[in-house]
Amino acid sequence: MRASLVVGNWKMNGGLAANARLLDALVTGFPRDDAGETPRELAVCVPFPYLGQVQAALSSSRIAWGAQDVSAHASGAYTGEVAAGMLVEFGCRFALVGHSERRQMHAESDALVAAKARAALDGGITPVICVGETLAEREANATAAVVTRQFGAVAAALGSDLPRIVLAYEPVWAIGTGKTASPAQAQEVHALLRGALRKARAADVRVLYGGSVKAANAKALFAMQDVDGGLVGGASLDADEFLAIARA
Ligand code: PEP
Repeated sequence: MRASLVVGNWKMNGGLAANARLLDALVTGFPRDDAGETPRELAVCVPFPYLGQVQAALSSSRIAWGAQDVSAHASGAYTGEVAAGMLVEFGCRFALVGHSERRQMHAESDALVAAKARAALDGGITPVICVGETLAEREANATAAVVTRQFGAVAAALGSDLPRIVLAYEPVWAIGTGKTASPAQAQEVHALLRGALRKARAADVRVLYGGSVKAANAKALFAMQDVDGGLVGGASLDADEFLAIARA
C-alpha cells in the first residue's frame, strides 16, 4: 500500500519568527500517533537558510522536511549550490527537483533535472521530481508527450533506482494561479504516469498532485485512484489550511 504523502513547498517565503509560529502549529496539529487508518506522511520543503531551524523544530515530530532544490554535484567549485550530502547533515529527507519555477526561470533541462535526481539519491535524499505541462502545451494536446518526455529522462538516468523517488504531477497552468486541475484531469495524467512507472518496475512510487491544492479541493483530488497525496505551495504557509489538506 502506498502511504499518502503531503509535501509543503514554502517557496521563497518565511522568516524566523513566522516560521516558528507555523512550525509550532504544525507540530501541535499533526500528532505523533496517527490515529487515522490510512498511513499518512507530512513534510515541508523550506528555503536553505531555515533548514537548521526546521530541523530543531521538527526532529521530535512525525513531520519530515527537505529542500526545494539540490545540486547535481557532490562538492566542488559550484558557487551558490547546495549538495545532497549537506542537506543530509540538516536531517533532510526530501528535495524538490525540477519544480516548474526552476525549469522555467532557471532554464533547468530534462537532463539537468535527471542529474539532480541522481545526485539526490546518491547523497541519501529522496527527490520529489516535478513534471507538468504549460497551458500552451495542454491546449496543443501535448500534455501526455511532455510529461512522458520529462519522466523518461529521469527514468533513463535512474534505472533500477527509480523506485526510490517521489513523483509530482504539477500542471504549470495550475501553480499559484488558483486554477486547479479537475480530479478527472489529474487522474488522467496520474494514470499515464502510473503506467510508465509500472513499465519501469517502479509501480509503488508515490505520485503527488500539485497546483493550487487547498482544503476545499484536496479531498476530491486525493480520492482519485492514482493520486497519492499533494505538493502544496501557497496553502502550506497557513497551518490550519495545510493540516486540513493533510487530513483530506
Ligand atoms: C508548488 O509550488 O509546487 C505549488 C503547487 O504551488 P501552489 O499550491 O501555490 O499552486
